[in-house]
Amino acid sequence: MKIIYPGSFDPITLGHLDIVERISKKFDEVYIAILSNYKKQSLFTVDERIKIIEEACKDFNNVKVVAFSGLLVDFAKSIDCKLIARGLREVSDYEKEVQMALMNRALDNDMETLFLVSNAKYSFVSSSIIKEVISFGGDVESFVPEAAYKMLKIKYLNK
Ligand code: ADP
Repeated sequence: MKIIYPGSFDPITLGHLDIVERISKKFDEVYIAILSNYKKQSLFTVDERIKIIEEACKDFNNVKVVAFSGLLVDFAKSIDCKLIARGLREVSDYEKEVQMALMNRALDNDMETLFLVSNAKYSFVSSSIIKEVISFGGDVESFVPEAAYKMLKIKYLNK
């Protein structure tokens, strides 16, 4: 069975990677799908994000990294997939995530969302807090994959 893990991944964190590792063990094919028409201004281009994720996921042989624009349900249909994976951190994720899952099912009655509770080690980690911390000189190395750390250093520290 296929599953899509959608998000902005700007950049991918170890919290995201933990979800990828867990779903890659349970499903035949995992599509990490980068939403390229996201409202938020992104730090990394879609191509940069694809490269970082591919490098971070090189040991998982059933994981593909793709970009899509438009509706997730349309993209899912185009690859014949009916299951979306989302990670849940704190209660604050819940409201937004349930709303999205219900809307996706309203748009396509066959579409299910599978929620995975985040690894407690990374439940406070988000792409935006990583960017904020490194922008003020804080150390984020233990929260992101090496490929993301390399790129963050180039963007923020000119290293
Ligand atoms: P979005 O910008 O659409 O929220 P993100 O790239 O931030 O997308 O996250 C994609 C998915 O990964 C979401 O389901 C989000 O809840 C989940 N996620 C983000 N950070 C973590 C984390 N530290 N642990 C587990 N899941 C996470």
